Amino acid sequence: MRLVTFEDDGERRLGARRGENIVDLCRVDPVLPSNVRRLFEAGPAALRAARKALDGAEDAIDAQAVRIVAPISDPEKVICIGLNYADHASETRMAVPFEPIIFAKYASAIVGPGDAIVLPATSQKVDYEAELIAVIGTGGRNIPESQALDHVAGYTVGNDVSARDYQLEKPGGQWLMGKTFDTFAPIGPDVVTADEVPDPHRLRVRCILNGTTMQDACTDQLIFGVDKLVAYLSHVVTLVPGDLIFTGTPPGVGMARTPPVWLRSGDRVTCEVDGVGRLENPVA
Ligand code: ZN
Repeated sequence: MRLVTFEDDGERRLGARRGENIVDLCRVDPVLPSNVRRLFEAGPAALRAARKALDGAEDAIDAQAVRIVAPISDPEKVICIGLNYADHASETRMAVPFEPIIFAKYASAIVGPGDAIVLPATSQKVDYEAELIAVIGTGGRNIPESQALDHVAGYTVGNDVSARDYQLEKPGGQWLMGKTFDTFAPIGPDVVTADEVPDPHRLRVRCILNGTTMQDACTDQLIFGVDKLVAYLSHVVTLVPGDLIFTGTPPGVGMARTPPVWLRSGDRVTCEVDGVGRLENPVA
């Protein structure tokens, strides 16, 4: 299933795509949880009920006629992985990590497809990072790597927008501050359930800035795969349904270019993951 959150009369609704249309799942089955995060919290039986509602729905809405918003707007955790592609580590002149590098964003940074990435007045070096996001379905602690993918409910696309001057030039290296300005976590449009993503380590990730491809790599280049990341993280924190894991960005970011490319007002950034989705955001 391709799950979405859409707005209808100002109300946020849980939907699933059927071709060009969206089925309002709770209208078909009012017992279903009302958003993607709660659907995952409710477990596999709820997912099966959602699929049944999708298959049995008589009415569907034209996807163009509604506003698709971020699929999950209130995750407990937004966890990000730094330098998880070897070529990206070397382009930033940083060592290839022997253990995952973890940082975070606050949920307040999340925006959806079409929403503006707002350049803050205090940063002159805002950069893009196209990423595959793993969405936790079944939570847990100390999850073994061999079972880790069973804890992933689905995948979506993210842009780990980064103010490099905050991240790298402030005292102590303010990764959190540089990564969590409001609007710095565009995600979506869909969460594609894991059963429709046979191998998360064979997906092409791309970033297109104003029509020019800036990043283009395959997730087979990930230093730490989704299974390793879930296992690693769960030895520190309890993962819960709806947690988002930004898995890291491939080479081609703006800071590594000569001259560097920083986002400017009026730009359009598109992040794509084949089979998962295409996330487009204007810059303001
Ligand atoms: Zn990143």
